[in-house]
Amino acid sequence: DASTPLPMAKDLSELFVPSMRGQLKSAFKSVMGNPTLAMINMAGGVPHPSTFPIMQLRATVRSPSSPSAPLNRESTLELAKSSRSQSTESLDELLQYGDGCGIDSYCAFLRRYTQRVHRPRYADWGVIASCGNTDAIGKAVSLFCEPGDSILVDRWTFPGALSSLVSAKVLPAPVPMDGEGMIPEALDNICQTWSGSAPPRAVYLVPTGQNPTGTTMSLVRRKAIYAVAQKRNLAIIEDDPYYFLQLPPVPSPSISRRGAERSDQAQHLVPSLLSLDVDGRVIRLDSFSKILAPNLRCGWITAPTYILDKIQILNESTILQPSGLSQGLISKLLNDTWGFDGWEAHLRELRAVYTLRRNLFIQAVDKHLAGLVEYTVPTAGMFLWMKVNLGSAAADPTAMPRLLGSMKKCGVMMAPDMPFSSTGPSAALEPATDGTSERYLRAAFALVDIDMFEPALKRLAQAITSVSGARS
Ligand code: PMP
Ligand code: PLP
Repeated sequence: DASTPLPMAKDLSELFVPSMRGQLKSAFKSVMGNPTLAMINMAGGVPHPSTFPIMQLRATVRSPSSPSAPLNRESTLELAKSSRSQSTESLDELLQYGDGCGIDSYCAFLRRYTQRVHRPRYADWGVIASCGNTDAIGKAVSLFCEPGDSILVDRWTFPGALSSLVSAKVLPAPVPMDGEGMIPEALDNICQTWSGSAPPRAVYLVPTGQNPTGTTMSLVRRKAIYAVAQKRNLAIIEDDPYYFLQLPPVPSPSISRRGAERSDQAQHLVPSLLSLDVDGRVIRLDSFSKILAPNLRCGWITAPTYILDKIQILNESTILQPSGLSQGLISKLLNDTWGFDGWEAHLRELRAVYTLRRNLFIQAVDKHLAGLVEYTVPTAGMFLWMKVNLGSAAADPTAMPRLLGSMKKCGVMMAPDMPFSSTGPSAALEPATDGTSERYLRAAFALVDIDMFEPALKRLAQAITSVSGARS
């Protein structure tokens, strides 16, 4: 019921590490914040904008097709030195020091968009700019974990997250997965039988198009994971860079670009964990890396505002905020050039691109690797995680290094499983073996030319058979 006021987020600050509890002060708020008109503020070490030599910024962007303009067209957007451009700040404002929250117009768009897509269920949520999810993961983890603490993670997970755990001396506690990602009963069981000193206070997971397994949690799975987090009082770090790349089921038998586009119209995105979050225990990390471009280094974090206040303070001792040029360009593009409709049309076009690639890649895998690999069809993202049938060589710890050597010789490379492994004392940094005889490869179908799919998989088949001794 839209008329019922939403509750406030629960106070989960007891989950914070001691150094994050209590009131921490933002340097910006005390020194730079809210100058009154009468104040002659000489407090900040801030350069005068007249010294900024960038006078104007003009960018040409491709705009997605729309009913009124069915063909892709180009639009020009412009940022001027000292005057605002519709919703977007002037270059002087974009290029000046700012606080640890981000550019106002950038955050305002993302707040409105979050409301539209995720409809948070508590009142005091907000968004803050991030430099992408890699940095945001480290920030989110450091709220809940000190050196020696453990954090629950997928059994196979994003190496960037594992390396930030390693550098923070935080131990990954691996949770078993199936074709839908993290298994709720396993998560519950690990908490139940925890025998280490401090029980984990947070779980890090990638619910959509998981890296590396490509798995996507169904709504039922998401609800079950959320229920375990409530039961065990865990904060959830929802790292979701592939959320908008959800793909329809593989059609059969004929695959065409038109088919991919048509099925998108009927497709609804699986609700995020944020959208199920009645308590305010989800810290949701979104990134523009896969939906605009990775080296814009821009993303956004959605969470209860008292949690964002802590992240703001962490930002103010590290990145401050993402580059104003990147934020300004994105703000101008989304607020003024594309708007919600253009942005959603762009995301739809992206889904069509990835759907076509996924479909053709799977078709080629079935053609060339039958009996050599097993996989779950990914319904989001850009990864196919293949269990490799190495036959009698499987138990041999040298099988994977030999397979990689053979792939190199055959002229094809995919990611081996070990860098993604969260088991073992130093996880990612010692990619030896973890005792399992199941071996996997991660293929990314995002980058190479579609024409290269078949040759790549023929080469892979050759490499696998040369190691397994099966088939010739
Ligand atoms: N170090 C010192 C000594 C500074 O004075 C400043 C800027 N006031 C900074 C670092 C921050 O620099 P940057 O904007 O490159 O992060
Ligand atoms: N999280 C996951 C699960 C990823 O797969 C990636 C990219 O590979 C990232 C985070 C990194 O994202 P960003 O470019 O936003 O730092």
